[in-house]
Amino acid sequence: MQKVYIETYGCTLNKGDTLIMKTLLKDREFVDDPREADVIMINTCAVRLETEERMKKRISELRKFGKKLVVAGCLSGAEPGTIMSIAPEASLIGPQAIEKVKDVIDGNLRSALTGERASITPHVMEGKVGIIPIADGCAGDCNFCITKLARRKLRSYPLRSIIDSAKFALSKGAVELELTGQDTAAYGLDYGASIRLPEVVRQVTELDGDFMVRIGMMTPEQASSIIDDLIEVIRLKKVYKFIHLPVQSGDDEVLKLMNRKYTIEEYKGIVKELRTKVPFLNVTTDIIIGHPGETEEAFENTISLMKEMRFERIHLAIYSMRSNTRSASMPQIPDKVKKQRMNVAYKLYEDISLSIHKEYEGKMTSLLLTEVGKQGSTIGRTVNYIPVVVKGDHQLGRRADVKIDEASFFDLKGHLV
Ligand code: SF4
Repeated sequence: MQKVYIETYGCTLNKGDTLIMKTLLKDREFVDDPREADVIMINTCAVRLETEERMKKRISELRKFGKKLVVAGCLSGAEPGTIMSIAPEASLIGPQAIEKVKDVIDGNLRSALTGERASITPHVMEGKVGIIPIADGCAGDCNFCITKLARRKLRSYPLRSIIDSAKFALSKGAVELELTGQDTAAYGLDYGASIRLPEVVRQVTELDGDFMVRIGMMTPEQASSIIDDLIEVIRLKKVYKFIHLPVQSGDDEVLKLMNRKYTIEEYKGIVKELRTKVPFLNVTTDIIIGHPGETEEAFENTISLMKEMRFERIHLAIYSMRSNTRSASMPQIPDKVKKQRMNVAYKLYEDISLSIHKEYEGKMTSLLLTEVGKQGSTIGRTVNYIPVVVKGDHQLGRRADVKIDEASFFDLKGHLV
């Protein structure tokens, strides 16, 4: 039997793609050591420049085993030429051509960069958490984004197969289901929008069992197109009061240069409506520091937005120039300036997040225990998805009442009562 070795990098979508490819290759044997393999596959990520450098180094290392080499993932989709310059003998599979993995591995196809929607919905189990990608690609076209070059088209997975995947994860003991995608709120637009995200969430919550649903990242413009139904489903008992709504910048001119489809006033309006209609809602976001066009004044607008919105969690990233993206051809901000601004923004994020967490100290809260923590601890999530490190090794999947003893900017610490 042919032996296949697969190494996977990047986000849950990429992990899901590896699962789909493994499912399609179920007549092969998967090995954990590239030396034992007949075929070596690396499923790459390309989100940041330093990630690309890491991938290129790893591809050079894997070549040395002298086996059939297959390079999959976003680097293949966005920069096939770069890979060919390092490993001209390699076969490539784009993230939206994974259903052709057998033909590429068997040599019927030299490479596959585009293809049809995969018919199966993957689910990735991480402990007691079932991660279920509901769509691939997005409806946006942001100027800084290399993922768009790799995952060009929005492709929603059929609702039936999402439900099957959720059922499968629950049958495997999942107590938390994460519905993920690059833009979960864009779900169904490629199906004529007859079924949108709220219906997916509703049907998943109707499955039997005591579990929680976390809705993944979404763009503000798509969130606003489904806002009433979205509010209704977030209010359901089985759904975390949590929303991940990347704003990327606090300045309208920079948003235009990013080709983001909303203004800061519109963004604030969406967050205000969500927070008003969903008690305890935790809104988190992503912000890019140092995107081309970010003047000192624009940066100050981002800082003001952070102070006004008081996000509990922010994924802050320094702008990373990605080849073949439109932002890469714009005049760049010097690294020194980017780093200085990042330090200011990060310090503010820490201060705000700590002050939000401090409000929980001494309070009681109910948690769902979902992960094994460090040093014999257990991690649970509040109803609005704040991580709590609980003293002791407790059974995962149970609900527990906890007293919060201590807050840090990153999480809370407490003990069972
Ligand atoms: S919405 Fe924008 S940032 Fe997000 S994946 Fe699509 S193009 Fe990239």
